[in-house]
Amino acid sequence: MSLALYRKYRPQTFGELVGQQPIRITLEQQVKSGRVGHAYLFVGPRGVGKTTTARILAKALNCENRKAGDAEPCNTCVSCTSITKGSSLNILEIDAASHTGVDNVREVIINGVHVVTQKDKWKIFIIDEVHMLSTAAFNALLKTLEEPPRYVVFILATTESHKVPATIISRCQRFDFKLVAQDALTKRVRLLADYEGMKLTDGVVERVVREARGSVRDAESVLQQLASLEEKNIADELADLLFPASDMEAVVVWFESLAKKNVAAAIDHLEAVHGAGIDAGAFLGDALYLAHHLLLAQTSAKKIAVADVDAKIFPRVQELQQRLHVERLLRLVALLYEAQDLVRTSTIPQLPAEVATVKFCGDLSQSHDEDTGNDPGTIPKRAATPQPQKTEVLQKNESVEIEKAESDAVQAEPIQPKKEGDISLPLARLQEKWHTLVTQTKKYNHALQFLLEGSTPFACENGCLTFGVGYKMHADKLRDTKMRNALVRAVEDVYGVTVRILPEVGKGANGLGNGMAHPMQPSDDLHLQELVKKFGGQIIE
Ligand SMILES: [Zn+2]
Repeated sequence: MSLALYRKYRPQTFGELVGQQPIRITLEQQVKSGRVGHAYLFVGPRGVGKTTTARILAKALNCENRKAGDAEPCNTCVSCTSITKGSSLNILEIDAASHTGVDNVREVIINGVHVVTQKDKWKIFIIDEVHMLSTAAFNALLKTLEEPPRYVVFILATTESHKVPATIISRCQRFDFKLVAQDALTKRVRLLADYEGMKLTDGVVERVVREARGSVRDAESVLQQLASLEEKNIADELADLLFPASDMEAVVVWFESLAKKNVAAAIDHLEAVHGAGIDAGAFLGDALYLAHHLLLAQTSAKKIAVADVDAKIFPRVQELQQRLHVERLLRLVALLYEAQDLVRTSTIPQLPAEVATVKFCGDLSQSHDEDTGNDPGTIPKRAATPQPQKTEVLQKNESVEIEKAESDAVQAEPIQPKKEGDISLPLARLQEKWHTLVTQTKKYNHALQFLLEGSTPFACENGCLTFGVGYKMHADKLRDTKMRNALVRAVEDVYGVTVRILPEVGKGANGLGNGMAHPMQPSDDLHLQELVKKFGGQIIE
C-alpha cells in the first residue's frame, strides 16, 4: 500500500463524511436550494474533516451531473475528477501555514478573484490554517469579502479561530467541527480495515479509537501503522508491538506517586519516562486525558470504562479514583495545563512535569504547615534527597495506614506523613528473605528472576534498597521503568515496604562505592535546585 489511508479513502460525498452530522445537513440543504454563502469559516481541531468537507462542497457546487434539488456530487464528471486529483483550475487550495502560502496568498486572492471561471459555475478558495495569514493578506481577503463577486466562494479553515480577525469572522458563516464520537470512529476503523482486508480484534479496534482521541485522521494513521505490519490478522499481542500500553501506564505510575505525595518516587519516575524516550508533550497529553476521565467519573454520570484506558491498567485507574478527589484533580488539571504550556519552550523536556509534581505535592505540605506557621513555599528536602534518618522498621500494615492517612489528608486533620526517606530494614532481615524475593519476582516479571540471579543485598536505608548484580547490563536492565516497578512491587510483597531501587554492579562491600553514602549524585542536587528555582521555593536542610 503506497497511498496513505486517509488519502486513499478520503470521503468523496456528504454521505461518506464521518461525524459532523449537523454541518453536513446544513450544507446539503444549501446546495440543494442553491442558497450558498460567499464565505464559510470551518473551525475545529485537526483531523476532523474540515478540508474534506470543503472539497466535497466545492465538488457539489461545480458538478456537471448534479441535478437541481440534489446535494451529492457525481464524482465521475470532468469537474469532479479534476477536484479529486487536485488539478481543478477553479478550486484554489492554499495552506496558509506554509511559508509560501503566506507570501503568495495576497496576490492569489487579488488576482484570482476577478478571473471569471469558464466552464464551471463557481470559483472556490479553500484557505487552510487561515489564522496564519499576514495582515496584508487578511486585508486583501476582507476587501474581497466586503464585495464578493457573484461566482466566488471562500472556505476558510482554522484550528485557532481566536486568531482570526473579528472583521473576517463576522462576514462568514461559521461551522464548528467537533471531535468525532467513539462509535462513529469505531465504525470508520472497521470499514477501512475491511477495505484493506485486515482482521482486527475488538480490543485492537478499541485501542486504535482511543489513540485517535476523536480525530479521524489520527485513527487512520494509526490503522496505517497496523497495516504496515503486513499481517492481516491483528490480535492484541501484535498491536502491543505498535502501541506499548506503557505510555498510559507511565501516567498511572506518576499519578500513583502524586496521590501518595511521594515527590522522590514521582520525579524518579519522570526521569525514567524521559530516559525511555517517551515524548514529554505526549506524556502530558496522556496525563490530561486520564485526569479528565477521573474528573468526569467523580462529577458526572460518565464512569471510566475499560475502553477509555486499557484492560491491563483499569484496576489501578479505579484505585486512583478512590485516592484523587475532585479538589485535588482540579488542582492537578491546572498544573498539567501549565506544564503543557512550558514544555514547548523548555530545554529540559521533563522539567515542566517535575515542576508540576513539586507544586502538587507542595500544596499538600502547605495544608500540613498551616498550623505550625511554616513558610508554605518550602519543600522538605528529604522528600527528594534521602538523608540519614533515624532507623525505623516499617511493617506492611503501618505503611498501609500511612498511605490511607495521606489520601485523606485533604479532608482530614493535618497529619505529617512519614516519607519514604524514613524506611530502613536491618541487613539481617534483608538477607534472610532475599532468596524469597528473587523467586517471588517471577510473579511480576519473568525476566526479573533471571536478572537477579546471584544478586546480593547491600542495604535498605533511608528509603533506598541497594544491591549488587554481576553484570552492568543487568544493572542497566533493572533500572528500566517496567523492571523497576515490578521489583518495587515484589519488595512491597516480601518486605512490606515501598522503596527506591538502586542496583549496582558488584558482589561485596567494594561494589558499594559512593552510592551508599550519597544516593543522590551532585547532578541530581543541581536538578533539584533548578526545580526549586523555577517553583520559587527553598530547600530545607
Ligand atoms: Zn460531477
